[in-house]
Amino acid sequence: MPADGFDAVVVGSGPNGLSGALTLAAAGRRVLLVEGARRFGGGLRTEELTLPGYAHDVCASVLAIAVASPAFRDLDLKVEFAHPPIPAAHPLDDGPAVLVHRDPARTAAGLGRDGVAWLETVGAAARAGLPLVDTLLAPLGVPRAPVAAARFGASALLPATVFARTVFRTPRARALLAGMAAHSMLDLRAPISAGYGLMLASLAHLAGWPVARGGSQTFADAMVARLRELGGETVSGRWVRDLGELPPARTTLLDVTPRQFLRMAGPRLPAGYRERLTRFRYGPGVFKLDWALSGPVPWRDPAVAGAGTVHLGGTLAEITHSEAEVTAGRHPRRPYVLVVQPCAADPTRAPRGGHTLWAYCHVPNGSGVDMTEAVEAQIERYAPGFRDLVLARSARGPADLERHNPNLVGGDIGGGLASLWQFAARPVLSPRPWRTPLPGVYLCSSSTPPGAGAHGMGGREAARLALRES
Ligand SMILES: Cc1cc2nc3c(=O)[nH]c(=O)nc-3n(C[C@H](O)[C@H](O)[C@H](O)COP(=O)(O)OP(=O)(O)OC[C@H]3O[C@@H](n4cnc5c(N)ncnc54)[C@H](O)[C@@H]3O)c2cc1C
Repeated sequence: MPADGFDAVVVGSGPNGLSGALTLAAAGRRVLLVEGARRFGGGLRTEELTLPGYAHDVCASVLAIAVASPAFRDLDLKVEFAHPPIPAAHPLDDGPAVLVHRDPARTAAGLGRDGVAWLETVGAAARAGLPLVDTLLAPLGVPRAPVAAARFGASALLPATVFARTVFRTPRARALLAGMAAHSMLDLRAPISAGYGLMLASLAHLAGWPVARGGSQTFADAMVARLRELGGETVSGRWVRDLGELPPARTTLLDVTPRQFLRMAGPRLPAGYRERLTRFRYGPGVFKLDWALSGPVPWRDPAVAGAGTVHLGGTLAEITHSEAEVTAGRHPRRPYVLVVQPCAADPTRAPRGGHTLWAYCHVPNGSGVDMTEAVEAQIERYAPGFRDLVLARSARGPADLERHNPNLVGGDIGGGLASLWQFAARPVLSPRPWRTPLPGVYLCSSSTPPGAGAHGMGGREAARLALRES
């Protein structure tokens, strides 16, 4: 570890750590970035998890929220975002799959009687554009689009089940909304679950749901390169176990979750704050699968082959049941499965003719159950013959994921439960939740606002606060 001479030290190189480091370096601060893992990037790493030549995004793959984020969209990094022909598909047992196109009108046309309702809700959020995105990604800032945000908020606060049944009349539109909302990892009967679904669906229209050409790692690498251009120093393979190991600096940004911060800070933290952090709740975990395939997935509806993201799990009722089971600490027999087909946008992920496939399902936090069979059965349900294409697979449960990245506590990919309470109190209830009681020390991970996703906003907001205060 370099000894001293830094204005700021950033621990952790996920999208939030990187955006925090870039914000500080761009303001002229001498920055040291310290990463525990061998490679930089946190949730943006890409590895050959199965066979040589098959590049798999270990965590984040679809970077919709990154391309739309005010923390990243103006950086002009050397990274290419590749868009699939169709952002998302939701196959059903009967009839064609529901498709979300970039064009809201084309999407609405596929929703029949619910087309108008789609345009009036998801379409309206997309029409509100980047000012609404900026408002939602900086919920504690001055709203850029207060009217649109108030309108959005009225629906967003609802449980997804209530929103879907009130606004949509057809099973197809209701299922589509459920698949979007289930990204939140919440029970779909819980408040605010509709909001996550509406936001993600509107991003499909506004910004698309792209992947990074070559893998998400290229996005992280481009940010590390920019940081070095700005004079920042970087160290990897160095886990920080105690804050005392860090060189002295005016500012310390920690891209870690509350549980790790409690360990690193030890008795330095006042009892009251420790107590509040101890009450922070983690969400369900995920069981992640990656496959090397000998060809494209044989979807029963061939249109699904063009979709970057595919939501499996059937109807609103089925997905609601799946997510309720997970919330209750059980493993659903037919889980909701999030699938990404990177090759629909980026054929460089596999050798010629080959394909990669990425998927996860939700499981109770810390689960040790192997969900491979249940996930593959859901894919077979909509793509009979899928298993015949499998050349190799990588399966990772919560413990494996937490070994890969200690921020994934119990396999929770969101840095903490995305409940209504923890949307407001993340990780504590405060107008400046990034600030800790330790002078100059800030949390900046997805355990701070606005929460999960590769948007880098926690890092940017923490760094801006630090620039004002230290
Ligand atoms: C399986 C999976 C799929 C996902 N899919 C998507 C997706 O498609 N799109 C999307 O937008 N988001 C997705 N996410 C979520 C996204 O990856 C996270 O929300 C995002 O990476 C959080 O960024 P972060 O900077 O807060 O933390 P992280 O990206 O988790 O980075 C934290 C970094 O800190 C390092 N670190 C932790 N402790 C220490 C320590 N003590 N010393 C040194 N270094 C330390 C870690 O090694 C890590 O590099 C997914 C996550 C997972 C796990």
